[in-house]
Amino acid sequence: MNEYAPLLAALVALLAGLTIGKAWERYKLRDGTWVDRRRVRESPHYILGLNFLVANQIDLAIEELTQAASQDANALEVNMILGNLYREKGQVGKAITIHQALLQRQKLPRMEHAYVLLCLGLDYKRGGFVDRALDAFNEVLRLDPQNAYALENIQKLHEEQHQWTEAYDTRQRLTNLAAMESRPQSQSILAFLENEIGLEAMRRKDYAEAARRFQSAIDLDARAVPAYLNLGDLRLAQGKEQEAAEVWNTLVQVAPDRAYLAFDRLEAQATRAGTPDRFTALCRRLIEDNPQDWRARLALSRQLTAAGQPLDALELLFAALVHNPHSLSVHQAIWRTLGHLGHPGDLVDRYSDLTKHAVFYLDPHVCMKCRYRSTELLWQCPHCHDWNTFVEERIAPAQDVA
Ligand SMILES: [Zn+2]
Repeated sequence: MNEYAPLLAALVALLAGLTIGKAWERYKLRDGTWVDRRRVRESPHYILGLNFLVANQIDLAIEELTQAASQDANALEVNMILGNLYREKGQVGKAITIHQALLQRQKLPRMEHAYVLLCLGLDYKRGGFVDRALDAFNEVLRLDPQNAYALENIQKLHEEQHQWTEAYDTRQRLTNLAAMESRPQSQSILAFLENEIGLEAMRRKDYAEAARRFQSAIDLDARAVPAYLNLGDLRLAQGKEQEAAEVWNTLVQVAPDRAYLAFDRLEAQATRAGTPDRFTALCRRLIEDNPQDWRARLALSRQLTAAGQPLDALELLFAALVHNPHSLSVHQAIWRTLGHLGHPGDLVDRYSDLTKHAVFYLDPHVCMKCRYRSTELLWQCPHCHDWNTFVEERIAPAQDVA
């Protein structure tokens, strides 16, 4: 993220500048007074500053933009950008001072007022002043009810404090604003928030409310995986075995790529019901549907070993290894099974051949947004706080140069 932060700041600053520009046009028309912004914009310091910004040289950018600002005391946009740059550098106090000074200006038009407040809100958020940040963003919304950027920041602030209901309400407003094509993504975020509200209800043992929330999450997004897992757990806690199994089986159907998250539950359930074959049949079906599915092979191999078929189990594990040579759990299962068989030389050699080109990596999941790595699947990225951005990372085996 560090390498992206200044660039992101630059883009935000530029975008804010452009939006302000638009607001300014409107202001000109409404008031009939001409504000000459060209003086700052044509200043070589301004142009140089923007160039440094794009080149990620923040200190030089600040230097040039400060010079540009000094040429025109009224220049709002350049001061706003300067404040944003100080914030991104971590000098939050300085950023707050600059943005607050801009707010003190007389006759600040409504939209400009809103954007300076937005910047100030970001300063407070960065500085950890949660309440002040919330106040600033809410004030932005009073001036500009459609301000998606303010809404998104309010949502994140509530999420950070685990105020899931407030986060949900804010996301709901954003969903209503969103263009049709981005609705499904917004719905999926709502589903994650519903799931969190359900978990809270579960912790205070309000099972009816929890079930309603998990179901609502599933209705919002049919692929809301954690909601299925939790709803099943809830049914099980209520002693409703059959219903729990139904929920988890639905998960397997709608999201076969995440089916493995329900494996332990389904396996235990099948064992309890005295029908372990049901689980092995499920694994076989998943492998058939997706030959890449190494997790289903791993689970099935465990069953086969337990049933006294270690050689069949080992075949499955070797196939799993080909599809994901980086899974430590596959290697461990192979060695357990090889040990079980007394380490026969030919099978040990096959293992050795299969792993010759494997590259090892212990963090197999990565956030698509910010490249944060995790050893397990996470639903919300602890770094960029986005939802459902983790994918399993697979690295191709290293090959000898031909
Ligand atoms: Zn991330």
